[in-house]
Amino acid sequence: MLRKALLAAAASERVRGLLTGAPTASSVVGRYVAGESIQDALAVARALRSDGLLVSLDYLGEDSIDAQRAAATAAQYVHLLGRLAAEGLSDGGAVEVSIKLSAIGLLLSSPGGTGSPNGELTSRMGGSRPPSPLAPVPPEGMPDGEAKISDMQGAEGTAGSSTLGERIATEHLERIVVAARDAGTTVTVDAEDHTSTDATLRIATALRERFGSVGSVVQAALRRTEGDVRELAAPGVRVRLCKGAYAEPLAEAFTARHDIDRSFARCLRTLMAGSGYPMIATHDPRLIAITRSLGLGRSPDSFEYQMLRGVRPVEQRRLAASGARVRVYVPYGGDWYRYLVRRLAERPANLALFLRSQLSPG
Ligand SMILES: Cc1cc2nc3c(=O)[nH]c(=O)nc-3n(C[C@H](O)[C@H](O)[C@H](O)COP(=O)(O)OP(=O)(O)OC[C@H]3O[C@@H](n4cnc5c(N)ncnc54)[C@H](O)[C@@H]3O)c2cc1C
Repeated sequence: MLRKALLAAAASERVRGLLTGAPTASSVVGRYVAGESIQDALAVARALRSDGLLVSLDYLGEDSIDAQRAAATAAQYVHLLGRLAAEGLSDGGAVEVSIKLSAIGLLLSSPGGTGSPNGELTSRMGGSRPPSPLAPVPPEGMPDGEAKISDMQGAEGTAGSSTLGERIATEHLERIVVAARDAGTTVTVDAEDHTSTDATLRIATALRERFGSVGSVVQAALRRTEGDVRELAAPGVRVRLCKGAYAEPLAEAFTARHDIDRSFARCLRTLMAGSGYPMIATHDPRLIAITRSLGLGRSPDSFEYQMLRGVRPVEQRRLAASGARVRVYVPYGGDWYRYLVRRLAERPANLALFLRSQLSPG
């Protein structure tokens, strides 16, 4: 309940202004986010690799309702993968990338690309939201929006806006997946709110059939997920299981903490008994313990733990030292506001600490 209220409050422009303009904002942001540039992301990835941890880099930016911005985000990923390959960081999938399809056009509903901030968008934050002042810029040396959406002009979108958005996101994702393949690594498609689950799973599955290494993410909070997991627990399929970070309606999701945890445990058992590659994304000690005991029946390199930058870093290193594969999810980029809010909402104590520091900065 509190989490839902926090997510809704964070949608207010006033709260956004307070949080982003706060004098200690950068130190709080720095705990969870690598920095704004590719250089920042590479530096953090290098440091984590030298500690024996795997990495997934996420370029922050969601809900692109502008075609150029979606193309620039895709170009940023392609450029990032080239840099990872040049440094040997991506070899064997040691550093991979995570991506939200809304950042590369899933929500575009008109060829001109401004889309419409409809119910889908507002439901993500509980209110309307103007375009971010921190829109991503193309990486140095990359032309702005160079991606060519072959059939964007004249697309009729007969099945509604999602058809155009899906086509655009699929084309961008394919470029990123090809760049990842060339760099010797993988791509994981993040899960967003329930309105995009069908399209997200569909797109990831279609590209996985052609390129193999595309991972999907499922959220234990969603009632549908047990069914999705049964389908995804198949040979070679990389599946990240997380609790789910979005405020969802009761009809679609479990909202009580223990119901989400029980759903997580059921999905976990299915994935660990299956023949895919489970990626268990949680900081919850009880779920980590269950994973560990289920993992005894598998080889240690047939599944991995995943945690977020800034959350339980000691546990990340402890698990890695025990011989487990542990991947740290590292976001970077200027558009960090909503990512930060989700992290603060997961742990209201963090938000309280942050707000207290604003009231008495000395
Ligand atoms: C690698 C990774 C990828 C993810 N990808 C997605 C995704 O694609 N889509 C999606 O909806 N969600 C994603 N999530 C977020 C996830 O859904 C949860 O919202 C988040 O992980 C918190 O849930 P938890 O399992 O850690 O359990 P919780 O019960 O929330 O936390 C368990 C314990 O972990 C610690 N902890 C958790 N969060 C924080 C925090 N923010 N700050 C400090 N301590 C904390 C606390 O000690 C807490 O008691 C991802 C999470 C991870 C780790």
